[in-house]
Amino acid sequence: MESKETLREALLAARTTIDTLRTENAHAKLLLDTLETLLVADFDHDPFAEIFTSLRSVFSFTGVKVLAADESAPDSLICVAADPSELIGMRWPVGTFFARVLNGRVTAALTNEKFEEWQALDSRLLSADQPVLYLPMAVRDRRGLLMLLRDVGDEGFDRSHVALARKFSVLASAAFAALHSRQREEESQRLRQLTTKLRESERALAYRANYDELTGLPNRTMIEERVTTAIRSLPPKGHLALAFIDLDNFKRVNDFYNHSVGDGLLVAVTERIKASIRSSDVLARLGGDEFVLLITPTEQVDHIKRAVERITEQLKLPFMIEGNELFTSASIGVSIFPDHGTDYDALRRNADVAMYRSKKRASGGIAYFDATADDTSATQMQQEQRLRAAVREQRFRCAFQPKIDIRKRALVGFEALIRWIDEKGLVRPPGHFIGMASDLGLLDDITGFVLREAVAALGQFDPVFGGRTRISINIAAKQASNQAFMESFIDGIAATGHAERLMLEITEEAMIQPDPFQSEILPALRQKGISVSIDDFGTGYSSFSVLADITADELKVDRSFISAIHQRSRSQSILKAVESLGSALGLPIVAEGVETADELNFLFRETGISMVQGYHIARPMFPKDLIDHWRAHHHRLDRDLSVLSAA
Ligand code: C2E
Ligand code: MG
Ligand code: MG
Repeated sequence: MESKETLREALLAARTTIDTLRTENAHAKLLLDTLETLLVADFDHDPFAEIFTSLRSVFSFTGVKVLAADESAPDSLICVAADPSELIGMRWPVGTFFARVLNGRVTAALTNEKFEEWQALDSRLLSADQPVLYLPMAVRDRRGLLMLLRDVGDEGFDRSHVALARKFSVLASAAFAALHSRQREEESQRLRQLTTKLRESERALAYRANYDELTGLPNRTMIEERVTTAIRSLPPKGHLALAFIDLDNFKRVNDFYNHSVGDGLLVAVTERIKASIRSSDVLARLGGDEFVLLITPTEQVDHIKRAVERITEQLKLPFMIEGNELFTSASIGVSIFPDHGTDYDALRRNADVAMYRSKKRASGGIAYFDATADDTSATQMQQEQRLRAAVREQRFRCAFQPKIDIRKRALVGFEALIRWIDEKGLVRPPGHFIGMASDLGLLDDITGFVLREAVAALGQFDPVFGGRTRISINIAAKQASNQAFMESFIDGIAATGHAERLMLEITEEAMIQPDPFQSEILPALRQKGISVSIDDFGTGYSSFSVLADITADELKVDRSFISAIHQRSRSQSILKAVESLGSALGLPIVAEGVETADELNFLFRETGISMVQGYHIARPMFPKDLIDHWRAHHHRLDRDLSVLSAA
């Protein structure tokens, strides 16, 4: 009987053990499943919430906390996760008790008044007679511990819980470590990708800064450098020559055929000239149909003569472009160092003057600069006098071009663009006179005029467009780094009382000057609340990395990237890189020169860019015309944009 009873008890005990094992097993499986989901999950969110949920399906508890070693304070633990979450961020001293837990020597406590640290804990979550389970665990690569709490008076955790929970804390630590290293790997992969992308675009930008995209020839920046170097390395009494080459009927070719034939002709002309020059000579394209040839070394003037004659002869032969037989010719003007100039600017200007003289005489001719010839220099002097008079009499006006936010469908600002109204009432664009004004020291006066016009325009625009728009004023690079001018200009802006409504557009080459621009001028602008835009981005020499040091309010991507953007993958990838850089720096991007619906659609759909300026939105106009135009046409634009955002 007795033995039967013992057996029954043993059986019962065995059943209980099996049951316990089964539950443990089930619990273990649950925990493992949870850990597995943790491992495969994409952790953009906080993983603790998931861990806590899985724990709740195994243990009943009323509170949970994860404390981790605090890197900034070695002797304390910081709460990195908790449910309820109010305790996150609180710190406790490690002390002797927590030190023991961290070393894995304490797992559970049913009463805790012996531990002075607890006094510091929040009494709602931990009171002296509360059952608590402590588990050492690693939170990423830091030491930490997990605490499970039951209510005051509740039962404590039993041994099977402790055993299971231990396993769990080990697994959870491993999961965190794996997650962390994977995140790190992903993060560094993303960074690597971004870096490569930026590098590629930087290379593309550096190329663009020095070479002409169509012909691959050095551009105006590069040729200046090459000529300057060539002059420096000339032997005493050495000579070199600069030939200015201009095609005679290029505009007609472009108009009569199409741009692709025009481009084809420019490429073919390049090839032909290159074939007839020596490897020491340098051919460059200044833009349009203007080329410059550096002829060096030159022992005799005779040599120069033969070289340019060969070119004019070659260019008179017919070209076959896209199945069309084309005839062209070039007018060439030549200047010689040191007789006609001792630096690049003088040589180029004089070669240009000579070219005009040759063009006036006959197509396909050659002329040498002649300082005694009374030709263009006289006209130039007249021009200069007219410009001086225009500045004196303020014969200028500002046109304004809207800048819009295509996502919010709102007009956000205007760019002020100066126009010279000449004696005949003709409107002359800034390309015709800004350079000359700068050479003559007249630009600062012109910029002062623009400021007054901008402030007056605010008065006209505000009733129509509201009082939140900004007007942008262009500042030449030379002005931006002129501290005296900028200081007085900033004071002038502040005196208008509209500093917050004005923005200065400054090109990147000025922005990257550490002194005085970044050290003095930029802080002064910030202090007065004047915003700053980086204009014509991508045309200068600055690199992405340099940009990261500048604080600006907007970055205007040059029109040359935007035009036909939907068809040009190279520009697209540069724009992508500019965009990621912009978002990393918190710098809004403006696309300038948007001329077509295709470009606008591309920007809207394929990029995150929201600010846009360009003929497709509106041309620059005088204030009253702009207001009329906007009233008449903004509905259409609004409709187009709403179609885009609906798509
Ligand atoms: P920017 O600052 O890059 O100004 C934009 C130029 O692009 C303007 O030429 C504008 O009319 C033109 N534009 C705008 N949208 C389009 C488009 O969709 N297609 C095309 N093809 N062009 C577009 P603008 O008015 O002839 O001015 C030329 C440059 O002259 C300006 O370039 C700026 O650098 C300079 N500038 C203008 N006003 C001032 C000024 O007051 N001071 C200084 N220092 N420079 C000025
Ligand atoms: Mg501008
Ligand atoms: Mg620009």
